[in-house]
Amino acid sequence: PAASSPPPHVAVVAFPFSSHAAVLLSFARALATAAAPFGATLSFLSTASSLAQLRKASGGGGGSAGNGLPGNLRFVEVPDGAPSAAEGTVPVPRQMQLFMAAAEAGGVKAGLEAARAVAGGARVSCVVGDAFVWPAADAAAAAGASWVPVWTAASCALLAHLRTDALREDFGDQAANRADELLTSHPGLASYRVRDLPDGVVSGDFNYDISLLLHRMGQRLPRSAAAVALNTFPGLDPPEVTAALAEILPNCLPFGPYHLLLPKDDADTTAAPADPHGCLAWLDRHPARGVAYVSFGTVASPRPDELRELAAGLEASGAPFLWSLREDSWPLLPPGFLDRATSTGSGLVVPWAPQVPVLRHPSVGAFVTHAGWASVLEGVSSGVPMACRPFFGDQWMNARSVAHVWGFGAAFEAGMTRAGVAAAVEELLRGEEGARMRARAQELQAAVAEAFGPGGACRKNFDRFVQIVCRA
Ligand code: UDP
Repeated sequence: PAASSPPPHVAVVAFPFSSHAAVLLSFARALATAAAPFGATLSFLSTASSLAQLRKASGGGGGSAGNGLPGNLRFVEVPDGAPSAAEGTVPVPRQMQLFMAAAEAGGVKAGLEAARAVAGGARVSCVVGDAFVWPAADAAAAAGASWVPVWTAASCALLAHLRTDALREDFGDQAANRADELLTSHPGLASYRVRDLPDGVVSGDFNYDISLLLHRMGQRLPRSAAAVALNTFPGLDPPEVTAALAEILPNCLPFGPYHLLLPKDDADTTAAPADPHGCLAWLDRHPARGVAYVSFGTVASPRPDELRELAAGLEASGAPFLWSLREDSWPLLPPGFLDRATSTGSGLVVPWAPQVPVLRHPSVGAFVTHAGWASVLEGVSSGVPMACRPFFGDQWMNARSVAHVWGFGAAFEAGMTRAGVAAAVEELLRGEEGARMRARAQELQAAVAEAFGPGGACRKNFDRFVQIVCRA
């Protein structure tokens, strides 16, 4: 910066639900480190409960060194909008609604003021934030700062939200009847069917909170974003997707998966947290590419009947499996399933797995996933082919991309059955088509490695992003 201008103060605004806040914190850590040479301080804004969770996961609090966070990154609270009497009892969708209403009614603005106070009066010069929290655009403008949103999901999903008005105009109330039609008249979306679009774009409840949020986000981004970080790497999105996005958002910078921005030592303690259930040691005891890893992320859970089909399918495949399954679902497993897995050593069921190092482990040869975007990126950057069982939101588009655009996996179109799971796992681990999928995943794994290597495209894009943010 010029000698006269004060050092940058960057506010990073999180969306405090599902895996969003953790992704943004790892983004903020990388940004804090890269922006340190500019003399920048960073304020990480999230709700009290989200900050408490993140503190627990990163082994300390915001502020100075010795707490697991870079010295120039501190935590600042924003209002959650919840009535204090209801604490802990509010269902997540309602929490989201309350948070967004508070954010829009001055919550982000209050957060920026708190950040300024904590930073000894240094005004916020740039607001970086999860694109979901679009009211940050107004708060940034009011503070005389620029708004630089971070998109954490896939580019095709962003395109769907940017084109929501055009898509609704095209399909009206006929989305259900035209579910199998390809979106050929929508630039960048020709590989997707109407049925693959996220809930609330052309079908479902347009007034549901998350639908409203994404619709308004899609309208705000082109008007207010100074630049947009994309969670993808050059070479992944087909050229028509990149072009269609650039048409609407000229300043898009792809440099994902974001967890690869962290220096290696950092990544080992944050993106790769502890392994209390011994997943990695268990994997060590299995042959290369022999194990199927199963996880549906932090929110989705299959219906009980489908869960039992999946369990039976894994057993029928004969392949060893590592399954990350929240404990409340364990009673739904078939009788004797857990005992058989343990006594034969053929399976390990854990409530949480360190997914990034698990997918990188040489014994993992297949990934059964809900196709959440972080999971897809983590799988492909480890060269592991996948079988996708999408549940909601953008997972349908991601599964379609995996199976039909990139070809490094398959999708269960009608849910998981015993036979379907067994066949998919066998194919991925031992089949000819599975070998082709693995080769495709490995090609992209090499592209990620190159993009994040010295002088690689993601490094360069991130450098540009840091410049934009620090010189705002
Ligand atoms: N994850 C993990 N261990 C688990 C389950 C999930 O580390 O046992 C992480 C996973 O690595 C990913 C995130 O949780 O980074 C899930 O994000 P994704 O976008 O795939 O799905 P979501 O949870 O948002 O539906």
